[in-house]
Amino acid sequence: MNKEFSAPRGTLDILPKDTPRWQEMEQKARKILNLYGYKEIRTPFYEESDLFARSLGQTSDVVQKQMLYVASLHKEEDLNSRIHLALRPEGTASVVRAYIEHSLHKQELVSKLYYIGPMFRGERPQKGRLRQFHQIGVEAMGPNTSDPYLDAEVITLSLHILNALGPKGFVVKLNSMGSMEDKENLAKCIKEKLRTKQAELCEDCKQRYLRNVFRILDCKNKECQTVVDHLSLDHSFLSPQSQIYFTKVKKALDDLKVNYQVVPKLVRGLDYYTHTVFEITHALLGSQDALGAGGRYNHLVSELGGPQVDAVGFALGLERVLLVLSETIKVALPPLEVFIVAQDQECLERAFTLAYQLRQKGLTCDLNYQLGSLKSQMRLANKSNAQFVLIIGEAERKTDQVALKDMASGQQEQIGLDRILQVLKERL
Ligand code: AMP
Repeated sequence: MNKEFSAPRGTLDILPKDTPRWQEMEQKARKILNLYGYKEIRTPFYEESDLFARSLGQTSDVVQKQMLYVASLHKEEDLNSRIHLALRPEGTASVVRAYIEHSLHKQELVSKLYYIGPMFRGERPQKGRLRQFHQIGVEAMGPNTSDPYLDAEVITLSLHILNALGPKGFVVKLNSMGSMEDKENLAKCIKEKLRTKQAELCEDCKQRYLRNVFRILDCKNKECQTVVDHLSLDHSFLSPQSQIYFTKVKKALDDLKVNYQVVPKLVRGLDYYTHTVFEITHALLGSQDALGAGGRYNHLVSELGGPQVDAVGFALGLERVLLVLSETIKVALPPLEVFIVAQDQECLERAFTLAYQLRQKGLTCDLNYQLGSLKSQMRLANKSNAQFVLIIGEAERKTDQVALKDMASGQQEQIGLDRILQVLKERL
């Protein structure tokens, strides 16, 4: 067949041989999220693009360069104006929008929410960087929930999940950006230190110097990285309260013996972060080295029109977790309990009914509708990885029996049709 279409650049098909691995990751994560009291929230894959611009910041790379717009529609209430929709580039903005829209703050003191699903960014694809990728993310939000323990809990939760998913050798980088006021002081300080270096920066960073200096610290350009390498930052810009907060976060992590590195140059690329920020990196990932990242954002809910509510969260990138995991870790396909082999058309009628009955009783069961020699059908049964094969030939059909073959031991015996379910249940 002509290969007329292929998956869009930067997207991946997850084929049946790989889905068990994804399901296993998701199941493990859900179990752990449950241990910490998180509940799943499912929001739309697209939102008004303004929501992302307002939350991530107009000057963020995501909003400036990576938004995937899906439609521009007339507003029903005002046909002269339009509503612009974009695929979600991350989960936090949508979760906060839903939190406000459904007044969750009135229903619980702290809302612990998680999501698992695809995110979309129109980035230039490369290793570890896709246009459609999957995140597991959490957001813990509620009035007066700015508590160092919650920050530490969110960090340990992300590590708990990562450890369960399997990758080894990741590094936790931690920093505090302080309050909004502290952040402004930090921005001034970085600007001052880079004032004489502007000519050495890439064109993007020259703009970032004027609009959002933090982003220079994240730039992947070699020249900019050299400039940033020579930049020395410390925590003197933090107010005494912010210092105390950060010390408590570190103490809570120390008490749990969590290893981390304090990296004063770690500033997350999105506007909404204040106080604690963290990133989990892995050397195997190359330039896109973050497995996951997160932090505190105490002003986003109110900035999007909600109440003054504190929040902290993180997101892990699942494709990157898989990149790190050794190729040798293979998840076996879910086992099939029963495969039915029918010798001729009449036997197939019986096999079809029997398969239906077994499935109704909760057994995984399959059969092949294209009749062939017994040998070729047994080959199929073998390939299906079935624990038991039921063979219905002319003799079995006439005597209302089936031949039951235990694929592990190779033993075969005749069983009456009326007893087969009971026998299978005893042996499975
Ligand atoms: P961010 O929302 O940018 O903080 O990203 C959180 C995590 O999502 C990162 O640490 C990555 O693991 C993953 N991620 C972000 N962008 C991409 C992308 N374009 N392709 C694959 N994974 C990504």
